[in-house]
Amino acid sequence: MTETRDTVILGSGCAGLTAAIYTARAGLRPLVLEGHEPGGQLSITSLVENFPGWPEGIQGPELIDNMKKQAARFGATFQLAHLQSVDLSVYPYRLETSAGEICTRTLIVASGASARWLGLPSEQALIGHGVSSCATCDGFFFRGKEIAVVGGGDSAMEEALFLTRFASKVTLLHRRSAFRASKIMLDRVMAHPNIELRANTVVVEVLGVEDKEVKGLRLRDVTNNQESILPVTGLFLGIGHEPNAKMFAGQIDLDDEGYIKTVHNVFTTLNGNPVHGVFACGDVQDRRYRQAITAAGSGCMAALEVEKFLEEHAH
Ligand code: NAP
Repeated sequence: MTETRDTVILGSGCAGLTAAIYTARAGLRPLVLEGHEPGGQLSITSLVENFPGWPEGIQGPELIDNMKKQAARFGATFQLAHLQSVDLSVYPYRLETSAGEICTRTLIVASGASARWLGLPSEQALIGHGVSSCATCDGFFFRGKEIAVVGGGDSAMEEALFLTRFASKVTLLHRRSAFRASKIMLDRVMAHPNIELRANTVVVEVLGVEDKEVKGLRLRDVTNNQESILPVTGLFLGIGHEPNAKMFAGQIDLDDEGYIKTVHNVFTTLNGNPVHGVFACGDVQDRRYRQAITAAGSGCMAALEVEKFLEEHAH
């Protein structure tokens, strides 16, 4: 017989780990399935300057590691596994994971969001051969090289700035003339001597597929349709993220972009009716704020609702 757990947390980013700290402290012995990207987006971020309590900033991986230790201290357990399928039509809920079946009375979905790609065949063919979505992971390989970053939001600005530590020149390509990034980040990018901003520009093709290494980019200026070649050896994508909620389609309401719809931040629904004991937190349900601190906040809320649910539905 599979043991029925009080609560299972899907995802080990900021939201999942905060939920783990709270549910563990409440004595619920949460099991955290670490998922495909253990530690979530913070684990591939560099300096986090806006998480309250760290006046000098803290490295993303260190922040995540601290949260994990904190949750473990109160009895949370972690499994390097991911969800394969879920059945919310039976109770206790049944999860098929890469490490076997799990039954649980409550579920906290904190599966976050994953990096988005342009979707060009040449880009896909060169992932890991000069094309990357993670500057902190791969920037090191571009010491002294010229590279490009795509995107007009804070992620792209952060990547471009970080990559100047290695690259001799960073060209930031954005498809429009207006930028989504915050003013402070955009100002830093514009003031940087090794970053060139090219607005109204899209990548049409990544060159070098036959050689299995990035040789350059074919670009198009969207204002006049003129094409040009940018000779770079690396391409970094900073164009946002996709929510990891596909496995819940049909069992939990998702919005038109695939984010989990929530009521009062963390309550899930199906056809507008509550799905009892299933809560969502962090980026998988937040297309608006998507900050470490908001993810942590909603992780806390989900955990408190789990406690309340289990009290009200004593077994
Ligand atoms: P974002 O704000 O959604 O920006 C995504 C950017 O990529 C947009 O400029 C978008 O262009 C562009 N884009 C999307 N799909 C594209 C495509 N197929 N081709 C070309 N360009 C494409 O995402 P984000 O930058 O990842 O930021 C997400 C959230 O995290 C934001 O709230 C941000 O403030 C926050 N964040 C904060 C920090 C920080 O404070 N240090 C760092 C990183 C992220 P359009 O503008 O034309 O749509």
